[in-house]
Amino acid sequence: AAMRETRTKKTKTVCTFCGVGCSFEVWTKGRKILKIEPTEDAPVNSISTCIKGKFGWDFVNSDQRLTHPLIRKGDEFVTATWEEALSVIGEKMGSIKQQYGGNAFGFVSSSKTTNEEAYLMQKLARQIFETNNVDNCSRYCQSPATDGLLSTVGYGGDSGTIKDIECAGLVIIIGANPTEGHPVLATRVKRAKKLNGQKLIVSDLRKHEMADRSDLYLHPKQGSDLVWLAAVTKYIIDQGWHDEAFIRERVNQYDEYLAVLEKYTLDYAEEVTGLSKEQLMEAAKIIHEADGTCVLWGMGVTQNIAGSHTSAAIANLLLATGNFGRPGAGAYPLRGHNNVQGSCDMGTLPQWLPGNQRLTDAAARAVFEEAYGVSISPEAGLTNIEMLQEVEKGRLKAMYLMGEDMAWVDSNSNHVHEMLGKLDFFVVQDVFFTKTAQFADVVLPASPSLEKDGTFTNTERRVQRLYQALEPLEKSKPDWWIIQQVAKAMGADWNYSHPSEIMDEIASLAPIFAGVSYDRLEGWDSLIWPVQKDGSDEPLLYTERFNFPDNKARFSLVDYVQPVDYEKEFDLTLNNGRLLEHFHEGNMTNKSKGIQYKLPEVFVEVSPELARERGVQDGSTVRLISPYGFIKLRSIVTDRVQGNELYVPMHSVSHENAINILTGSVGDVRTQTPAYKQTKVRMEVINVK
Ligand code: SF4
Repeated sequence: AAMRETRTKKTKTVCTFCGVGCSFEVWTKGRKILKIEPTEDAPVNSISTCIKGKFGWDFVNSDQRLTHPLIRKGDEFVTATWEEALSVIGEKMGSIKQQYGGNAFGFVSSSKTTNEEAYLMQKLARQIFETNNVDNCSRYCQSPATDGLLSTVGYGGDSGTIKDIECAGLVIIIGANPTEGHPVLATRVKRAKKLNGQKLIVSDLRKHEMADRSDLYLHPKQGSDLVWLAAVTKYIIDQGWHDEAFIRERVNQYDEYLAVLEKYTLDYAEEVTGLSKEQLMEAAKIIHEADGTCVLWGMGVTQNIAGSHTSAAIANLLLATGNFGRPGAGAYPLRGHNNVQGSCDMGTLPQWLPGNQRLTDAAARAVFEEAYGVSISPEAGLTNIEMLQEVEKGRLKAMYLMGEDMAWVDSNSNHVHEMLGKLDFFVVQDVFFTKTAQFADVVLPASPSLEKDGTFTNTERRVQRLYQALEPLEKSKPDWWIIQQVAKAMGADWNYSHPSEIMDEIASLAPIFAGVSYDRLEGWDSLIWPVQKDGSDEPLLYTERFNFPDNKARFSLVDYVQPVDYEKEFDLTLNNGRLLEHFHEGNMTNKSKGIQYKLPEVFVEVSPELARERGVQDGSTVRLISPYGFIKLRSIVTDRVQGNELYVPMHSVSHENAINILTGSVGDVRTQTPAYKQTKVRMEVINVK
């Protein structure tokens, strides 16, 4: 051991802080992280990283790590051995299953864990508990994007690679801030603009850095992107700028779609979105003149009640203009967590089996039924949101949650806390003792990515290997190991000795992963799904066919959904999002000293005009009050926000000023993803300075 401590070890890993999927070597000595070294071999980022990838890793050695299983005894948690913790789990889950059946359970997977771990979580739900009640945290972010694409082009993923975005004539970014959320991808767009003269349109409430660089900046009213997208599509068709041949040959439902588009005139769009007709015509003209358009979007689109419809409207625009199936064109939902794409691909979704196969597909179901030795219901299980609704009704009794801080990231958190407190039995598995863990009966210590082997799938569907750089800290364990032990505690005969065996099983059951194996992912090698048995992969989708039985895409007959209604007193629009330095709710980056030093706490951005009107100064403390709760924050007066619109980053250090105390329970009409971006508040000034 002494020898090992003095040796510098270099291990290839994949970044865990966003969906871009940068890979690099981590240099370690013992448990000390010496440096992060990107190399030209990295398929996505080459020698680039951002601040999180470069400096965000201290959290693995944080003294706040969970190091032992914990079992609740009254109001306290006591340290336990794995045997003790697993025996409590086996006993309690076993008796609840016997009394109420598998549908009394909810399983929540994580978009931070590996593909193999996500796969096992859905297998645990479907095989051992015989329920489809399994979901992942993309329910809080990207489900509407997946839904919008599945209903139009058939695959819930980016159409091409990040390199393809670089060769587009035009990039449209809607409701996303890649400079802070997907930094390395943002640099690609900036470079393409500078070197290739790529055009850029940005639609966002906030005038962030990409908006500043854009050729056309659109600032539509909150939640109204669908309307300008539909109006611009209609205008393009009316001008004869659409791709008639592409539509007639490759897309269904055109005539029905034209009928839906009737109402989306420029006048109507001007009224609903607040954008001028000139801006809309300008957007249409830029799209018409561009050689290839890529649309990138994020949670500013998806976290609205029309999130799915707006995502489908993006696909409609691209279909109408023939912007699929060629490089430099297509739909690019920007995945937030490092493995949002993979965890969805692995079937931790209530209506999807691994490999993006519908539960209603009898042939696909039969393959899993045969492999798992159980029958699988074609009926969709419960989403994360529905799980809590079922707790309220007394029908959901127990939950097993991996790597997700639901008590902090789900909307209307006071209500979420109440529901979690009502569960008969609750297992939380995480790297830290999270807010959610406070409600658990058993807490299991998991290992972060640097302490395990596995694969992640980035936003462009690229599967990459990560290798274990550090031993698991104390008694913490990789999530795949823990899930296997839980299955065994329920009497299952699972015997995976390495994640590669789990991947082999995935490849045998899911056709789009048929050719994936650890051999083919050795070192810096990567594969983009669908991957054939011969190992060939498909970086660019839809060149020949869309993913429907008749090989044709379909226009989605989307319609505008009015924003959530609030009482008049809540007169300010509250937007939220990421900061460059932080990852998601901040459980990991808040424990990285350098990052914490740079950004100790969140704030609220107030526009200069609102600040003048309400007597707010830079540094004033204000209270924001919504119908669901209140938080107290320091203000920054900035023209990044306009008029009555406020912005609060989503990564608070303290639970007392977490954004989700304010957000409500209303969600996207198709996927229930909370409408985080449609929150209204009133503001009280506490201290001017
Ligand atoms: Fe990590 Fe994303 Fe930054 Fe790349 S861009 S280093 S994947 S956080």
